[in-house]
Parts: sequence; C-alpha cells; structure tokens
Amino acid sequence: MANPYHHSLSSVKKWGGVASDYQAIHYWFDESKMMMADFRHRALRHHAEGIFMCERIFGKTIRLSTNGKHIPTRWVGEQHILEDLGRIPSMQDWFKHIMPEKWMGQTKKLDAELELV
Ligand SMILES: [Zn+2]
Repeated sequence: MANPYHHSLSSVKKWGGVASDYQAIHYWFDESKMMMADFRHRALRHHAEGIFMCERIFGKTIRLSTNGKHIPTRWVGEQHILEDLGRIPSMQDWFKHIMPEKWMGQTKKLDAELELV
C-alpha cells in the first residue's frame, strides 16, 4: 500500500510545490488505517463522496508554498484514490459488499415512543 508521503511526492510531480503542500490531504484519506489496518480501511473515504468530503474539509483549492499556484483539492483526492484503486468507486460500490447481519437492521422502540402508547 502506498504511504501518504509517496502520494504527496506523486502530487508534486503532477502539479509542483513540495510534499508538505499535499500531505494533510493524503494523510486524511489514509487516517482510517487507525480503525482497520488492512485495505478495508479504504471503504471509509476512498470513494467519490470521500473526495467531496475532502473538499469540504480542506477547501476548494490548496495553495502551493513555492509559487502560490492554486490546485483543486478534488484533483488531489482523485489522484490519491486512482493511485490506490485504479478507479474512483462510489460509496455504493463499497456498501454492496457488506454482509448483512441481524443486528444491523434492528429497530427498537425509543423511550419517547413508548410513552405515547
Ligand atoms: Zn489511500
């Protein structure tokens, strides 16, 4: 698996700047490794919705420290996911592989609902 630092070096090759201009974004995509240490961590942010979430967090563009050039944040997110997966999946592409368990669909009456009966 590519390290976020190496994704950052790849960004430098594409758009210029230095690795630290991109590292916060690439580390954010892979932070989910702290919850699941294998490739399954990618289900959390490595999809189209994750790219838009990244944009909301880091802004529409990042500014390169070397020349002040603005780079669309979504480009960086797309690059990260394409380098990891070879395509940009939707969240549905990940969800359809979840094996349903009974506890996932449980619904219980809330205390507030019971008081109305
Ligand atoms: Zn990744």
